[in-house]
Amino acid sequence: MAKYVYGFGPTGTDGDASMKNLLGGKGANLAEMARLGLPVPAGFTITTDCCTAYFDEGGNFPKGLQAEVEAALKQTEEAMQMKYGDPENPLLISSRSGARQSMPGMMETVLNVGLCSATIPGLVKKSGNERFVYDAYRRLITMYSDVVMEKAEGLEPEEGKGIRVQLEKLMDALKQQKGYRSDTDLTADDLKQLCEAYKAKIKEVLGREFPDDAKQQLWGAVGAVFKSWNGKRAVSYRRIEGIPDDWGTAVNVQSMVFGNMGDTSATGVAFTRNPATGENKFYGEWLINAQGEDVVAGIRTPSPLNEETKNEQNQHLSSLEKEWPPLYQELVDIRDNLEKHYTDMQDIEFTIQEGRLYMLQCRSGKRTGTAALNMAMEMLDEGLIDERTAVMRVAPTQLDELLHPIVDPEAEKSAQSFVSGLPAGPGGACGQIVFTSNDAVKAAKEGKTCVLVREETNPEDVEGMRAAEGILTARGGMTSHAALVARGWGKCCIVGAGELKIDLDARTMTVGGKSFKEGDVITLNGTKGLAYAGAVKMMDATENPRFQEFMKIVDKHRTMGVRTNADTPEDAKLARDFGAEGIGLFRTEHMFYGAGADEALFQLRKMILSGNDEERNAAIDGLAPFVKKDIKDTLEAMDTLPVTVRLLDPPLHEFAPTSEGAQAAMAEALGITVDEVQDRVDSLHEVNPMMGHRGVRLGITYTTLTEMQIRAIFEAAAELQKAGKNPKPEIMVPVTCTVKELDFVKPIFDRVKQEVEQQSGVEVDCLYGTMIEIPRAALCADKMAQTAQFFSFGTNDLTQMGFGFSRDDIGGFLHDYLDEGILDADPFQTIDQEGVGQLIQMSVEKGRATRSDLKIGICGEQGGDPASVDFCFKTGLNYVSCSPYRVPIARLAAAQASVKAQK
Ligand code: PEP
Ligand code: MG
Repeated sequence: MAKYVYGFGPTGTDGDASMKNLLGGKGANLAEMARLGLPVPAGFTITTDCCTAYFDEGGNFPKGLQAEVEAALKQTEEAMQMKYGDPENPLLISSRSGARQSMPGMMETVLNVGLCSATIPGLVKKSGNERFVYDAYRRLITMYSDVVMEKAEGLEPEEGKGIRVQLEKLMDALKQQKGYRSDTDLTADDLKQLCEAYKAKIKEVLGREFPDDAKQQLWGAVGAVFKSWNGKRAVSYRRIEGIPDDWGTAVNVQSMVFGNMGDTSATGVAFTRNPATGENKFYGEWLINAQGEDVVAGIRTPSPLNEETKNEQNQHLSSLEKEWPPLYQELVDIRDNLEKHYTDMQDIEFTIQEGRLYMLQCRSGKRTGTAALNMAMEMLDEGLIDERTAVMRVAPTQLDELLHPIVDPEAEKSAQSFVSGLPAGPGGACGQIVFTSNDAVKAAKEGKTCVLVREETNPEDVEGMRAAEGILTARGGMTSHAALVARGWGKCCIVGAGELKIDLDARTMTVGGKSFKEGDVITLNGTKGLAYAGAVKMMDATENPRFQEFMKIVDKHRTMGVRTNADTPEDAKLARDFGAEGIGLFRTEHMFYGAGADEALFQLRKMILSGNDEERNAAIDGLAPFVKKDIKDTLEAMDTLPVTVRLLDPPLHEFAPTSEGAQAAMAEALGITVDEVQDRVDSLHEVNPMMGHRGVRLGITYTTLTEMQIRAIFEAAAELQKAGKNPKPEIMVPVTCTVKELDFVKPIFDRVKQEVEQQSGVEVDCLYGTMIEIPRAALCADKMAQTAQFFSFGTNDLTQMGFGFSRDDIGGFLHDYLDEGILDADPFQTIDQEGVGQLIQMSVEKGRATRSDLKIGICGEQGGDPASVDFCFKTGLNYVSCSPYRVPIARLAAAQASVKAQK
C-alpha cells in the first residue's frame, strides 16, 4: 500500500528536498530544514498522491490514511510534548496546502485547528493568556467557516456576502461600538463575546454548527485543503501557468507556534536577497504580536527586518535588527545557512513565540526578471553557483520582461506623481484605470491596455492581474499576494499606496483632493513605486551590461542555432543586435505591405490582373528591381550570415485591388475598364484560399515569376560579392507536398544560377530547400530530401493542417477547448508535441536518412516559444527562427535545453 504520510521534526524526518512531486514544495522543504537541524515545529505531510486518490474516490479519504495520520500525529505530539485534543496540555495544528510548484495564495490554509470547548480552558491555563486564546479561536472560526464550511462545500455567495466578510463585519461593529481603532484593542471578554456571535452567525448563514470536536476539525481542515486544489482561483492560476490538473496538492499538518502571544512574539516573511532588484541584502517584513496571515493580508503595515532595507513607507517603524538583536542574528545565520545549502535565494516564513524563533517555511523565492538576472550573475561571481546553474536561473520568459519598456527617466523628471507605494514589480505600465478583475479581463479582450487598481491584494484577482498592464493597490506589503504573483509574471506593480481612497461602487479613486475615474489613463513606475496621471513616455530597457554579460554565458552553453524571421533590413539589424545568427524566414510578400510599398504593390497588382502572358511578363519585369533591392538590402544587413529567402507564398487575390481608386488606376495601366478589373479580381476568388493557389503552386503556374525571384536573389548576391561582401542566400520553396514540385523548380534554380554566375563572373553559393508545412511533405520527407538541401518547419501551416484548425478562425473556439481542458495550450503558440511533434520527428529522421547533412530549422511562430525550442533541440534541429524580440528568449531556451541534456 502507498505511504501517504511523511513526518518531519526533531524526532524524525522521512522526506527531503528532492521529494517535491510527492510532498509538494512546502512539505519537501520543511523536511529539508528539519534535516538541517533548523527549528521547525514538528508535523507531517500528506502526499499529493493522496490528494489524487481522494479525488479518484469521489472526495473520500483513501483507506489506511486514518491510521497513518494517527501515527504521525502521535510522533508530532511526542516531539512537541503536547497532545492534540488534550484538555490539560493541548497541541494545536495548522493545515496548509503545498503543490509541487508554488501557487502563492491560490489554495487554502486553516490555522489554530484543535481549539474547542474541551481544549480552550487548558490552553488558557497553560499560556496564562486568555486574550491570546480567544484571539486564536476567533481566527480559527473565521478561517474554518470560510475554507471548510463554505468554499470546500462549493458554496459561492455573491461578492460581499461570504461568511468571512459577514464575520468581519461583526468584529468591525464591535470595534466601532467600543471605540477601538485596532484589532489589538479588543479584550479577552470582547473576543469571547465575538466568538459566540461568530458561531451563531455561522449557524444562521450556513445552517450548521461550527464543529466543537478537535478530531472533526482536523479531518475537515485536511479535506478542505485537498478540495482547494479545485477551487476557482487555483484552477485559473493553473491554466495561466500551465500546471497540470492531476498534480494535486499535499497537505502539511504542523504544530502551531504563535506569533500573537503578546509583545515578545512576532511573525515575519523574508527573502534572503531582494526579490525585486536582486540586491544581496536580507530583505523582509515582520509584525509584533501577529499571526502569519496578518503580514501578507496587508491589514497592518509591516515593519522592516533591518535598517539597511528600510523604505519610505516603513522608515518610521522599528526593525527586528534594532528591536531584538540576538534573534535577528539567529535569523541571519539561518539565512546564510539556507543560501549555502540551496545555493539560491530563499523565501522564508518565521514565527517568534515568546522570544523563541521557529522556521515555518522556506522555498526558492519568486523574483522579477531583473532580480533573477542580477542574482544569477552575482552568485556566479561569489562562486556560489557555476555557469550552467546561472544559465538555468533565469526563465526565458523573464528575459521578455527585461526587454520590456520602462518609464523614460527624462520624461519622468517633468511628471508629477500623484501617489507613491511600494515598488513590488518593476518596469513601467501605462493604461486606463479599471477597478475590478473582471473589468481588466474585459478591457484586455477589447484590446485596451489597463491598470488594475484595487484596495488590497486579493488572490481572487489573478485573472485581472494577468490581463492588466500594471497593478496598483492601496494596501499590502512587498510580500503580499499581489506582489508575489506580479513579480512571478514580471508585471509592473505598486502596492501599499496608502493615500489612495477607492470607491468601488462609484468606480473612482481620490488622492489628496485629486480624483480619477474608470477609464482615466495613468502611468506606473513599478521600479520606484510612483504613479503618474496621464501617459508618461516609455522606453526600452535593453542596454543593461549585466544582460549582455549573461547572454555571453548563455551562448557559450548553447549548441543549437537561433535565427530570426525578418522581412526588412531594419528588422534584420534589430535581430542581429539581439544576437540572431541569420534569417530563417524572409517572407518576400511582405515587401508589398506598408509604407513605401506603393510602387512595388502596383507592379504586383498589374501582374496579378494581367490578361495574358505578355502582359504578365511585362509586369514581372517591372517588379524585378523592387524584389532585388529588398533582398539585396537584407543580405547586406545580414552580411556573412545566412538568409533564407522564401519564394512568394500567399494567395494572390490578397493583393488584388478592391478600392475604387486602386481599381481605376489599374484599369488605366492595363488599358481596360474598371468593370473588367472587377471581373478579373472576382475570377481570383477561392473558396479555401489557405489551401488554394499559393506557395509553390503559383510558381508552377507562373514560372516566369519563379525565375524572376530566383534571378533577383542571385544577382543581389553577386553584386554584393563584387562589392567585397559575403552574402549567404538560401532559397526556400513554400507549401510543397511532393518532391516533384521541388524537382520542377530546381532546373530553373540551376539555370539561373549558371546564367548569373556567367554574367557576373562570380560564383554564388546558395542552398536550395523547402518548407515542411503540409503533413504529406512530412510523411514523404525522405523523398523531399532527395532534392532539398534543407528543411524548415512551417509549424503555422503544419499545425493548421495537422489539426485541421484554421489558423485564422481558431480564436472563435479555442477558449472552449482550453477551458474544458481538451487542449492544454494553444498549438499555434507552443508546438503540440504529441501530434504535430510526431510529424516533425518523423521528417527529421526520414530526411536525414536520405541526406545525412540535411540542415533543419523551424520558422513557424512557435520557434520563439521556450517549450517548443526545447522540443526542437531534443529533436535534433540545427536552428530555430523567431521574431527579433524573441531572439534572446530563444537563445536562453536553447542554452537551457543543452544544459539539461548534459545533466
Ligand atoms: C508557417 O506556415 O509556419 C510559416 C512560417 O509560413 P506562413 O506563416 O507565412 O504561412
Ligand atoms: Mg506557411
